[in-house]
Amino acid sequence: IESRPQPDSPWEYRFYIDLEGNLDQPVVSGALEDVRSHVRSLRILGCYPRRDRAAENLDTREPVESGDREGAVPEARPVVKPIPPEVPSRREVKVGPVVIGGERFVLMAGPCAVEGRQQIHDGAELVKSCGASILRGGAFKPRTSPYSFQGLGREGLELLARAGEAFDLPVVTEVIRPEDVDIVAAQADMLQVGARNMQNYALLMKLGTVDRPVLLKRGLSATIDEWLAAAEYIRAGGNMQVILCERGIRTFETATRSTLDVSAVPVVKQRCDLPIVVDPSHAAGQRELVLPLALAAAAAGADGLIVEVHPRPDEALCDKQQALEGEDLARLVELLEPIVTSLGRTL
Ligand code: PEP
Ligand code: MN
Repeated sequence: IESRPQPDSPWEYRFYIDLEGNLDQPVVSGALEDVRSHVRSLRILGCYPRRDRAAENLDTREPVESGDREGAVPEARPVVKPIPPEVPSRREVKVGPVVIGGERFVLMAGPCAVEGRQQIHDGAELVKSCGASILRGGAFKPRTSPYSFQGLGREGLELLARAGEAFDLPVVTEVIRPEDVDIVAAQADMLQVGARNMQNYALLMKLGTVDRPVLLKRGLSATIDEWLAAAEYIRAGGNMQVILCERGIRTFETATRSTLDVSAVPVVKQRCDLPIVVDPSHAAGQRELVLPLALAAAAAGADGLIVEVHPRPDEALCDKQQALEGEDLARLVELLEPIVTSLGRTL
């Protein structure tokens, strides 16, 4: 059916096979024995109870006759009890010393873009003082308009890294082009793939080769399956450290910048082992809506949040309307506490 990389041993794969046949049949048990000699382990998930196919008129190739004629379909009986589908075991991903997907709910915050030394320094100070544990800030910005501020590039990367060091905060920043992955990985603790790049396969494949966690944002119009397939591009390359980020999707609604798909959080938890965080800022597009969406995400079981905050929002060069002020971030932490605690987690 498919092959999946093994979480802890790069280049080893688990193959899922579904075949027509029955464990009772010597040809099937013989084939399974053959397979066993070629693989490290073989697990039989189950075998459907065989039905009397002739009686159901499903198959006229093997009419059931009385007697023990070779090839006749034996009576229906369960052979192996089907095993209920497993809930995927949870994967924790470390960003510097911070674990995402574990017991602790992780708050990441910072400005949309690194705009200068003082701005990112003050932003980092604010983030630290509110108790957030990872600093965000874009150096390479994928802007919808080519005339908008494009970020400070390498200089911004350097400034972000220095601000993170100064306040002992791991940093996350976006990478746009495959050829920048190595330089960004050298400075940042986590690499972000933005919504506009979720299906940039050359970028995803390059990210599969580095030993850095990747924050993979959901594409503006991507289904959950497409998003998980994009994550698989990174993992198939051997880098299992992927964190998903729901950041709102495009719908007919225009009252918000995007529509936050809160249901993505529990759906992702059903389907895969990856941690999922939520970015309420890009979904909301307005400061006043960020807190309610952030709280909803926490209540839905997200492993953390990434929010935009600016030391002086009025001066922001990018995503000004959605930037929280310091006191908003402090209030968010206060409101999150009881929600996170009620779910058995810590902040
Ligand atoms: C960002 O995080 O600043 C950003 C550009 O986000 P997105 O890719 O979700 O639009
Ligand atoms: Mn932004």
